[in-house]
Amino acid sequence: MRISWYLPETGLQDLVDSLSSFGRLAAPVRRGDGHVYEFVSSASDIDFNFTRTKLPPKKFLLPYKRMVGVYHPESMDYTPVGNEGGIVLLGVHPCDLHGIEVLARFFPELREKAFVVGVSCLPDEHCFCLDAGSAFAESALFDLFLVLLEGGFLLFVGSAKGIGVVEKLKGLIREATEEEIFLCRKFLEERTKLFRKRTLPLAGTSLLIEALYHSQVWEELSKDCLGCGTCTNVCPTCFCFASYDVPDIEGRKVKRVEFATSCQYPVHSLVAGGHYFRPSLSERFKHRYYHKLVGYTRQVGKAGCVGCGRCSFFCPVGIRMEEVLERLLYDQGVNHRC
Ligand code: SF4
Ligand code: SF4
Repeated sequence: MRISWYLPETGLQDLVDSLSSFGRLAAPVRRGDGHVYEFVSSASDIDFNFTRTKLPPKKFLLPYKRMVGVYHPESMDYTPVGNEGGIVLLGVHPCDLHGIEVLARFFPELREKAFVVGVSCLPDEHCFCLDAGSAFAESALFDLFLVLLEGGFLLFVGSAKGIGVVEKLKGLIREATEEEIFLCRKFLEERTKLFRKRTLPLAGTSLLIEALYHSQVWEELSKDCLGCGTCTNVCPTCFCFASYDVPDIEGRKVKRVEFATSCQYPVHSLVAGGHYFRPSLSERFKHRYYHKLVGYTRQVGKAGCVGCGRCSFFCPVGIRMEEVLERLLYDQGVNHRC
């Protein structure tokens, strides 16, 4: 089977319909001055003309608030509650595909739960996925990938499930021509030129970053931070959570609820005995960089920053992750890669 196909724009609804067997479908929708992922059933609601959504598709895979189980205090029985049912994520940019890949290394069940359809994009000045090694879909998790062309899509297949969907679309799609593949290559070339030119090579710097753990520069870098946690909440790879229990009125049944939290909040480092193990804002600020770039890499072999630019774009005081790293690595004259 060929792995690239051409789907005319008019076939988008058929694609949406054929994906419905995998679960509810979420796609980018314009809301106000931005875009969000929402459940849709009509292709006419979908808008692929966006740079980044406010929240990443993670919100469907690891909901920000979720019930995870029920226990009965008398019998001590505990019944886990999973997020049953599949989900289709349609219109995921390469950086977020890599974000899902990172999450799936910690939560392998997500691979089975989601049918993921990527879509091509153009960067703005906040995107640094090229530096982060996440600008292309190839090494990430996806079932289908769409490249937007004039009047239609070039459709690439990334999994056996994806092949099944292509089979269903036979009659509507046709093999991509060499000219269309050439147009796709041109698009990728032009897209690469649009990335802001930087000296930041994120891949390969985690050892240097680790070595600068005690640098005084962190105090200076974190001085404007408010500790608001926006950066972690919008990040496609952050997954820290806390939990609480909700008993029913008779105390016979208790629901366990998990909710997303942030390493930027002081309470996140509060442990038994009232001890805060990351008491200062600058330590919490630094921790985010170390966990993402050093910790994730050590744990699952992939950095926890995919360069989506959300934390920079949404930070209320304009702290930009890539600039912090540039200053850390280059202002001190450490300008070579490991
Ligand atoms: S969003 Fe900005 S101000 Fe808020 S915690 Fe993150 S870096 Fe600090
Ligand atoms: S750290 Fe910032 S740029 Fe990197 S993946 Fe998270 S939100 Fe995106």
